[in-house]
Order: sequence, then C-alpha cells, then structure tokens
Amino acid sequence: MHIPFDNSYAALPDAFYTALSPTAVKAPQMLAVNADLAQLLGIEIGDLTQAAQVFAGNVVPDGAAPLAQLYAGHQFGNWNPQLGDGRAILLGEVLGRDGIRRDIQLKGSGPTPYSRGGDGRAWLGPVLREYVVSEAMHALGIPTTRALAAAKTGEAIWRDTGAMPGAVLTRVARSHLRVGTFQVFAHRGQIEDLKTLTAYAIQRHYPQAGGPMGLLRAVCAAQADLIARWMSVGFIHGVMNTDNASIAGETIDYGPCAFMDAFDAGRVFSSIDRQGRYAYGNQPNIAVWNMAQLATALLQQMENKDAAVKEATDVIHAMPDQIATAWQKHFAAKIGITHVTARDTTLIDGLLELMQADGADFTNSFRALPGENARDQFTDRTAFDAWSARWQARIASEPDPAATMNAANPALVPRNHRIEQMIQAAVSGDMTPFDRLMQALATPFTAKDPDLARPPAPSEIVPATFCGT
Ligand code: AMP
Ligand code: MG
Repeated sequence: MHIPFDNSYAALPDAFYTALSPTAVKAPQMLAVNADLAQLLGIEIGDLTQAAQVFAGNVVPDGAAPLAQLYAGHQFGNWNPQLGDGRAILLGEVLGRDGIRRDIQLKGSGPTPYSRGGDGRAWLGPVLREYVVSEAMHALGIPTTRALAAAKTGEAIWRDTGAMPGAVLTRVARSHLRVGTFQVFAHRGQIEDLKTLTAYAIQRHYPQAGGPMGLLRAVCAAQADLIARWMSVGFIHGVMNTDNASIAGETIDYGPCAFMDAFDAGRVFSSIDRQGRYAYGNQPNIAVWNMAQLATALLQQMENKDAAVKEATDVIHAMPDQIATAWQKHFAAKIGITHVTARDTTLIDGLLELMQADGADFTNSFRALPGENARDQFTDRTAFDAWSARWQARIASEPDPAATMNAANPALVPRNHRIEQMIQAAVSGDMTPFDRLMQALATPFTAKDPDLARPPAPSEIVPATFCGT
C-alpha cells in the first residue's frame, strides 16, 4: 500500500506530541475500506491483507511519522488539565487531489502516555458507528471527519458489556486541532507554544485570519454554521467537550451521538449526560461556551490585554446571532424558503412546536412536506392544516419550493436502531447490514429504501447511546 505522506505536525515542537508507533495486534483483518476517499487522498490500497497490517497498526507505512497529540479540555464543563490521544496515533498528513491537507489517524491503536489508565483500544461497535455516521454526515454535506478504513484486531477487549471484538478506525480529518489543544498551552503558561500553535492553525485552516483575533472569528463562524447544520438534520453530538470541538469546524468524535427520530428539543442521548448539558436544543449554547474557552486560551498571548479582552468578548457575544442566522437559513430551506425574512422564523417555530407536541418524526415530517400526505405525519391534523395554510401562502412566491425542500430534507439518516442492528450483525460476522446502510446513506437526498427510512418500532427504540467506547 502506498500513502503519499506530507507531514507538518511532526515538525512542530516536542511539547506538542509524543512520537510513538501503534501497538501491534494479533490478527489484523479488514472490515471496510473507503475506496472513494482513498482515491481523493491519492492512496493506493492494493492488497487487502497487507492493507489490514497498516490499518490495524502492525505496519507503519513508509513516510509516516507516528505520534500521539497532546491536548486538554473541559469535559461536561469540568476542566481536565491533560487529555491527549489516549488511544489514537496520527500517522501523518496527505495532500488530497483537491489540494486539501488531511490527517490520517488510527483510533483504537493501543495505549499512549495520555491513556490515563484506559486500554488504548476501541471495540467494533463504536468503530463501525463512527464509520457509518461520519460518512453519512459527509454525504449530507455537513463538515466532518471521515472514515478511510476499519480493521479488526483479532483481540478481545473488555467493556461493561463483557469481552468485545477489538477494532481500529482510520480517521481522516482536516486536522485534529481542538479547542483543547490551545487550552493545554494557555493553561500551562507555554506562551511560545501557544503562539506557534496559533500560527500553525492560521496557516493550515484560515490563511486570511491574520492573527489570534481573526482566528477566533473564523472558528466561531465555522462552528456557528456547523451547529446550525447539525440542528437542521436532527443531530445530537452528545459529547461537545472542548477537546471534541474542532478548530477546522468539522464534526469530530462520534461517541454517544444520534439522529433524533421523534422530535424533542430537550432530547439527550448520551447515557452519562444526566443534566442534559448536550441536549439537542442546548447545542447552540454549548458551541458559544466552547468558543468562549477558545477565546480565553487565545487571549493569553495578546499584548494589549484590555483591548483584546473587549474585542474577544464582542466576538463571543455576536455568536448566538450568528448561529441563529445560520439556523434560519438552513431551516427556511427545509420548508422551501430561499430568501429568509424575520417573519419566517415564526413559521419555522410553529412547525417545530407542532412536531414537538406530536412527537412527529423529525426526518420524515420534513421530507413529507412537499407531498400530498404531509399531514399524515402529525396527530393533530387540524393544527397542521392551520399551519399549512399560512405556509402555503408564504411559499407561493418561491420559485421552486419543492426542489428547495428536497435538497434540504434528507430521505434517509442513519437511525440509531439501524446502527445497533448493524453492529450486532457485524459482531456475529455479518457485514450485510453495514454494506446496505453505507450504500443507501451515500445518497441521502434521493435514496429510496422505505425500510431504512422507517422510524423504529417500539421494540427497536434505542433509548440511549453509551460512552463505553
Ligand atoms: P472521547 O470521550 O472519546 O473524546 O475521549 C476523551 C479522552 O479519553 C481522550 O483523551 C481519549 O484519548 C481518552 N480515551 C477514551 N477512550 C480511551 C481508551 N479506551 N483508552 C485510553 N484513552 C481513552
Ligand atoms: Mg475526543
């Protein structure tokens, strides 16, 4: 296998990482390879037996500079001074055929100095969950890390549920720089390293940014749009800790995440999120909170502190409106409106209130809107008809509302019960449900698979997703 590495992170100061190879496993075996992504990255996969050696971490490919990255972070609001890649190894970077630099990282590849007592491993369930959901997210047009490969290790690992088959995910990201990467240097008072990191992030992601304040503005803008996009597909991230907030503005770290079935703004999926900090409807607030932490870290390097604090505060205070604007744009498209006005927000809110009251299916209700049977998604049909009359009057002036809606409302999202079923099948060696999901989710706006589009039957409902990854 050939990977055309072009590494930059490994050239940063020693304080940024620990150079380290993945830990070899017993019996590498490929589970899945993403041929399209490999093509984009200019990677020749070649023989699958040999590829499995690389993707399971047994062979370090030529040109790689393997390392574990250092970072810190706020987890559920609590400061943790040191996290870091506890079970991931960055192999290096590749310049894609599109000219974009991307990290190639193994996740589940063995312990590192940042493992904090963890085993450094991942089991097949979360690996395939991240594979399917991140690729689905990409197909939905939402910025995200991607999945290049998944390999079985041939080793059992222990989780709450007992012995589970081990696996390694090969994750591809525009970078793995997080808010927590800035926090670790700021907190330790390593100002030179903080400046180096700031310059690196600007050069790599936002060359127009000019300096720390410009970087803050750029990351806020990227995060604002990202969170609005999540909301628009009913996505709940589940662990919006600052170590899981990407500087590049990608969705990263698919742990206890889920797409909602029945709409509920207060919906929480993560089994450990008892206070609902990362509930669906609280995601905009948390994005702002995370950006405030980034601002705090970036400020440590500023010369004229008072002026800088004032400017950064303004940037953070502007963010709720920034998210609201992005939210309005994305949700207006979902009801067929291309040029959103202030009054349209009332219309969108009105529909969401109906959906909330009825527990209507988020994906299917929006998808059904342009059709004859939209009202069938609702139990209170009189209320829907009243809303619909106002809505029809509004979209009468839109050039092609149905086309707008069909491009904004996916027919398919990776529903949690389907993911669970896929994982159970994969554990017993059957990858057919995985292949079926991957194929259907590659074209989420046109896919026709009524069975995959169906909300869970009561017996299929997955009440929570677990962090035991
Ligand atoms: P996450 O919740 O996946 O974002 O992980 C938070 C932190 O815990 C990161 O520093 C991870 O590297 C670390 N971590 C998670 N699972 C493991 C594990 N099985 N072994 C070692 N470190 C882990
Ligand atoms: Mg993480």
